Amino acid sequence: MKLDVLIVAAHPDDAEISAGGILLTLRDAGRPYGIVDLTRGEMGTRGTADDRAREVAAANAILRPTVRENLGLPDGRVAVTVEARERLAALIRRHQPEVVIAHHVDDLHPDHAACGQIAREAWYLSGLQRLAAPGETARRPKRIYHFLGHVPTEPTFVVDIGRVWEDKVKLVRCYASQLQPDGAQDKGQHFLFGADVLQRMETRARFFGERIGVRYGEGLLHKGPLPCMDPILG
Ligand SMILES: [Zn+2]
Repeated sequence: MKLDVLIVAAHPDDAEISAGGILLTLRDAGRPYGIVDLTRGEMGTRGTADDRAREVAAANAILRPTVRENLGLPDGRVAVTVEARERLAALIRRHQPEVVIAHHVDDLHPDHAACGQIAREAWYLSGLQRLAAPGETARRPKRIYHFLGHVPTEPTFVVDIGRVWEDKVKLVRCYASQLQPDGAQDKGQHFLFGADVLQRMETRARFFGERIGVRYGEGLLHKGPLPCMDPILG
């Protein structure tokens, strides 16, 4: 089945934290969407690979994505390689999403930044017939958007996620290993931001929501201007 949206994320939980409201809105509208996680998160400070696999299954039970795949790239060592971008380009050709959404290329976490760049390059390459396998049809999604990282960036637009906010919190709570302190040194707070995942997620959602006059929002960036069919009202 062709997808409306394909999310490309570095670690299990990134898609949910960054774009979970958008995904739940797509779910509620019955629109086909997919997620590809580049790694299994096996190098995370908290939780084992098995914990994280169980958490993905719990999140999928809420999200009900049309497809969720894992490229199995090495966690903590995601790099922009010809192999990575061509594997992702083949996946894009297979599922034919209208829109790809990935990390911002300017993110503090190197895996996130590399994921954003791999997604941009794969998005472009997916449209090149000579790179397609025999029998595959090249097809480039209409747009690629980025969810915003920790570097302050003005979003191109903000999606109102107020109607699904409670579900988004439930969804992210599926990743319990990432939310709980894991030892005396770990206070459950991010070393840079002094707040836990759920607090930071709510702060960001309220900030972006306020920008468009709603309670909770998720911002997306499009590189360059978007076409406008109505010169007055967009
Ligand atoms: Zn991540």
